[in-house]
Amino acid sequence: MSLKKILIKIMDFILLDCKQATFLVTKELEGSLTFWEKIRLKMHLLNCKFCYNFNVQNEKIDGILKATP
Ligand SMILES: [Zn+2]
Repeated sequence: MSLKKILIKIMDFILLDCKQATFLVTKELEGSLTFWEKIRLKMHLLNCKFCYNFNVQNEKIDGILKATP
């Protein structure tokens, strides 16, 4: 396998598509993300405004829910 192919495989593993990222954002609220899922989600949020905003919205909603007794 060439170095380029290995790099593509690694990038594929790290980078999520938006569907996977929004799924992980929702899953994060339940606090059930693994270490690698957290890393992959953070990497995606750095590159994607849409999912970044989705994450911000979700954290706000989560904050409101947690503040409500
Ligand atoms: Zn995205």
